Amino acid sequence: MRKKLFFVCVLALLLPSLALAQSQKPVDVIPTDSGDVAITFLGHASLMLQWRGQVIDIDPWSAQADYSRLPKADLVLVTHEHRDHLDVAAIKAIRKPGTVIAASAPVVVKTAVKGAVVLKNGDTKELLGIRVDVVPAYNRVHMRAPGEPFHPLGQGNGYVLHFGSTRIYVAGDTEDIPEMAALTGVDVAFLPVNLPYTMDVDMLARAAELLRPKVLYPYHTGDTDMAAVAAALKNLPGVETRIRPMK
Ligand code: ZN
Ligand code: ZN
Repeated sequence: MRKKLFFVCVLALLLPSLALAQSQKPVDVIPTDSGDVAITFLGHASLMLQWRGQVIDIDPWSAQADYSRLPKADLVLVTHEHRDHLDVAAIKAIRKPGTVIAASAPVVVKTAVKGAVVLKNGDTKELLGIRVDVVPAYNRVHMRAPGEPFHPLGQGNGYVLHFGSTRIYVAGDTEDIPEMAALTGVDVAFLPVNLPYTMDVDMLARAAELLRPKVLYPYHTGDTDMAAVAAALKNLPGVETRIRPMK
């Protein structure tokens, strides 16, 4: 009996790390004054954050990970309704009773998730003890057709998550937009760089200059030449660029 109990305890201790190991994805730890944030780079725009025992999934997409083998989510944030960001199957796989799902209005309409929190540009909401500021995400230059941006203003979101006094900005599908100049105190930024949908390398460099995060993760990178990205960001004082596999 005692042996069995010991085994159960050991298993309970191992389970979270096993779940991470199973994902076989890189993890970075960001220390904050309110506990470490572990960021798992699942791929493309899919991130899993773990903080104080809570799991936050951003834009979970089954093409990037087997979500049935990852820890269940306490909070799911979806930036917009494109298929590489909104994947109902992935959300279903990580959902448990009590999971808070928060997303842009078109996402909530599409998924018809009961009780989902609608987040609009400019909103600030407290979700599971995390302040979430909702930032616009849109194209000014890159168009699907003349006058028709891939991401029209007002539809999609970026999110600034506050973990204590540390701010992590996940930009969503956007270009370098004037609203970024107003985002002060961003510690960690995830900025997309892939054509034709989001930013080219020059736009990324301009966005980095506006934001001046301490740590910059280019993400949603598609076929972008990451050596060119690293070169373009090399001389930005105070900004440490970290390239992770986020194709
Ligand atoms: Zn998109
Ligand atoms: Zn996208």
